[in-house]
Amino acid sequence: MNNRYDALALFSGGLDSILACKVIQDQGLKVLGLHFITPFFGNPEKIEEWQELYGVDILPVDISREYIKMMLDVPAHGIGKLVNPCVDCKIMMLRHARGMMEEFGATFIISGEVLGQRPMSQRQESLNSIRNDAEVKDVLLRPLCAKTQLITPCEESGLVDREKLPHISGRGRKEQLSMARAYGFKVIPTPAGGCKLTEHENAARFLPLLRNLKEPDVNFFKLATVGRQYWAGNKLLAIGRNQADNENIEKIFRDGDYVFEIKDFPGPFSLGRSLDSEDWNEQEITDGAAMTASFSPKARNLGTEVIVKVTGPDGEREVCVLPSRETQTGFAGPSLDGLKEWKIERANFRLERIERESFETDDSVLEKND
Ligand code: SF4
Repeated sequence: MNNRYDALALFSGGLDSILACKVIQDQGLKVLGLHFITPFFGNPEKIEEWQELYGVDILPVDISREYIKMMLDVPAHGIGKLVNPCVDCKIMMLRHARGMMEEFGATFIISGEVLGQRPMSQRQESLNSIRNDAEVKDVLLRPLCAKTQLITPCEESGLVDREKLPHISGRGRKEQLSMARAYGFKVIPTPAGGCKLTEHENAARFLPLLRNLKEPDVNFFKLATVGRQYWAGNKLLAIGRNQADNENIEKIFRDGDYVFEIKDFPGPFSLGRSLDSEDWNEQEITDGAAMTASFSPKARNLGTEVIVKVTGPDGEREVCVLPSRETQTGFAGPSLDGLKEWKIERANFRLERIERESFETDDSVLEKND
C-alpha cells in the first residue's frame, strides 16, 4: 500500500461508500478507504475481499473505546430509532479521518452520504451539523450528492471536477444500482455497511450494558455480540451456538468470568459474567450449568442429570444438573424493555449538561466583567 493519497474516504463496505470512492478514482485521484471498527460495526476480515472486488485500498481503524465512551456518556445529537447515535457517529469518524490526512498527504475527505437518504443523519440540517461539528467544512466532499451541496474547496480548486460527479438525492436506490452495474461489480452490497446498533435483536443485547456500565468496557460489548444471551438481574450468560461462537467466547474470557462446559457430551461453551464483577451465588451457578446443558441435544434427551464443569474465580468444580431453560434465577433473552426510559434519561442528562455549561459560561463572563 503506497502511503500517499489524494483523499481519505469513510469506507463502511456499503454500496454508497464504495461508489463515493469509485467516482473520485475515476478522476485519476488516489483514495484510501478508512474502515472504522467497533463492537457495533466493522468487518476487518472482509477488507482483503473488498480491495480485490472494488479496487480500493482500505485501512482498518479501531475506534471502539472512544465510541463506547461517547455512547455511555451522551451522544450530543441524540439517539436514533434504536440505540444508534448516527450524527455523533459520523462526526467521530470524520474527526478521525481529518486527523489522519497529514500522515497520508491527503487534501480532502469523502463520504458516501446522500442528501435525504436516511431520516436521521442525512437530512440537510444533519449533514450541516456533521460537517461543522467534525470541523471538516474545508475538506469534506460528499461526491454522490455534491451537486445538492455548496461547492467545496477541492472542487473550487479544480482538483475534483464537480461536473463529472453524479447528482443523487432522496431515498431511491435506482441510480446507485445502475452505477454499480456500470462499474461491473460482481457483488452489490447493501446501501450501508451493516450496523448492529440499528438492529432490534442486537440493540436489545447492548441495552443492559448501555444502561448500567459506567466505564467504556470494550470486552463486555464484544461479549454482548456473541452466541445466545441470557440475563438474570446483573448476570449475563453467553452460550455458544457453534464452533466459531465457542472460539470467540474463549477469546473474550477474562479473570472473574465463569466458564461452563458439559462433561461427557458434545455441547456449547458458555461464559458467565456480572455487570459489577460480583461473584455468582450457588443458585446462579447451578442455573448457568442447567442452561448450558439444555443446549446439548444428547444431554437433554438423556432425561437425567448430567455433569457440567464450572471454572470460576474460586477454581474448578463439577455440578450435577438436569438440563433446563426454566431456571429459578430467571435467565431470559435480551429485550428492549427500558429503551424508552433510557433515552429519556439520557436526553434529560444532556439538557442538564447544556444548562450547567451555559450557567458556567455566564458566570465566567460576569467574573471577567467584575
Ligand atoms: S447506522 Fe451505525 S454506523 Fe451508520 S451512522 Fe448510524 S450509528 Fe454510525
